[in-house]
Amino acid sequence: MYEYNPRSLRAEEFISDVEIRETLAYAEANKDNFALIDEILEKARPVKTGTGYICKGLTHREASVLLACENPEKIARMYEIAEEIKQAFYGNRIVLFAPLYLSNYCVNGCVYCPYHGQNKHIPRKKLTQEEVKAEVIALQDMGHKRLAIEAGEDPVNNPLDYILDCIHTIYSIKHKNGAIRRVNVNIAATTVENYRKLKEAGIGTYILFQETYNKESYERLHPTGPKHDYDYHTEAMDRAMEGGIDDVGLGVLFGLEGYKYEFAGLLMHAEHLEAVHGVGPHTISVPRVKKADDIDPDAFDNSISDEIFTKIAACIRLAVPYTGMIISTRESEQVRERMLQVGISQVSGASRTSVGGYTEKERPTDTEQFNVSDQRTLDEVIKWLMETGHIPSFCTACYREGRTGDRFMSLCKSGQIVNCCTPNALMTLTEYLTDYASEETRDLGYRLIDEELKKIPKEKVRQIAAEHIEAIKHSDKRDF
Ligand code: SAM
Repeated sequence: MYEYNPRSLRAEEFISDVEIRETLAYAEANKDNFALIDEILEKARPVKTGTGYICKGLTHREASVLLACENPEKIARMYEIAEEIKQAFYGNRIVLFAPLYLSNYCVNGCVYCPYHGQNKHIPRKKLTQEEVKAEVIALQDMGHKRLAIEAGEDPVNNPLDYILDCIHTIYSIKHKNGAIRRVNVNIAATTVENYRKLKEAGIGTYILFQETYNKESYERLHPTGPKHDYDYHTEAMDRAMEGGIDDVGLGVLFGLEGYKYEFAGLLMHAEHLEAVHGVGPHTISVPRVKKADDIDPDAFDNSISDEIFTKIAACIRLAVPYTGMIISTRESEQVRERMLQVGISQVSGASRTSVGGYTEKERPTDTEQFNVSDQRTLDEVIKWLMETGHIPSFCTACYREGRTGDRFMSLCKSGQIVNCCTPNALMTLTEYLTDYASEETRDLGYRLIDEELKKIPKEKVRQIAAEHIEAIKHSDKRDF
């Protein structure tokens, strides 16, 4: 039995099973305690300061009480506050990205993933550097500026040097009016030394999904391969931070285990990072397990309804107010639209989850990692975002200006992100509209930009943004 200690560097202590079970019992006992729930909701609300807003966030215990609560009025209030928080720190901007699958060679035995080593149905494929280049050009031709690279774990076929080569290739491609400006990386847990090399290669966020925080389930779901080691996987973010990566992205694969358990574990992980490294997760992803080749969809009986899924997202937003929240094309347009209203700040668009998928005319399914529910083009996604009241953003300025880790967080907390982000979002949206959009999307976008420019409070900032936007529209000048 391990004592709960968020400052410990041992997985069993910062994600203590005993603490999670006690949290769930506490949440269940208080789920109709409306006085306590109101108090927790009040604590979660953003408070206006001289320069911006500040939010206290919630502990895993407090947030678990909200998640357990089934009262419709209280749930509606959670959703309102989630939206208020997102507006306070991120405004109506939504950041766009696309995954890029490099290799599906994998030695692990993850029972929910079609890339598992024992799956003999799928062709194994690894992109050459020439193919990486072709994929990146295809992505750039859509308008993407931000990628998340994905790969299975295979020290022989995809060693770290291969991943590093791919990152260098991606950053080196200058094509037409653009370049990929931020490469986030989603690869298996590795060593401090390797994290250091990834940092030196200029990666953005290092993303690693925990899959499940329940150690017993984790070991059953990952029966073979290096990923079987729960502690090594759970302590990966500490090694990443030790290696100098200060933007890390957490996530749970919802549907593998009981969602209340995962939720408490996820928040404890965020609290641990804050306690030990002084900075919480840069992003939190909320993937749900999907049908895939060689996977029995009925094997996961913890799958969660859209309603519960929405509530989880809102409660994460209340508990970890400054984090970026990501939803992928695993989810349908309808689900994504709902999730955008409760705190999501980043979405992928026009994703292909197969190795080499972007250079194929038709969406390939043979090496696909999971079925993509939202199959719209990037142009359609951008148009939809604007029609639903958002500013699609391709901005990567924070990362390139060195505003990562605690520097990003303190800017976010002081409200300054909102002031510099809207102009940046509008400029990068103008780049997209001018270089890549359909006529209909472009017209809609230019009108939206005119309206949004008027809302920028500082005259000087408004003026500079307007000048840059005109320059983008009428010249080849990009990347202000
Ligand atoms: N190999 C790396 C690792 O093990 O962390 C990279 C992961 S993989 C390319 C990206 C993520 O896809 C996994 O972490 C997992 O959460 C998710 N995934 C795997 N199978 C899935 C499925 N059937 N449905 C939805 N997501 C899935």
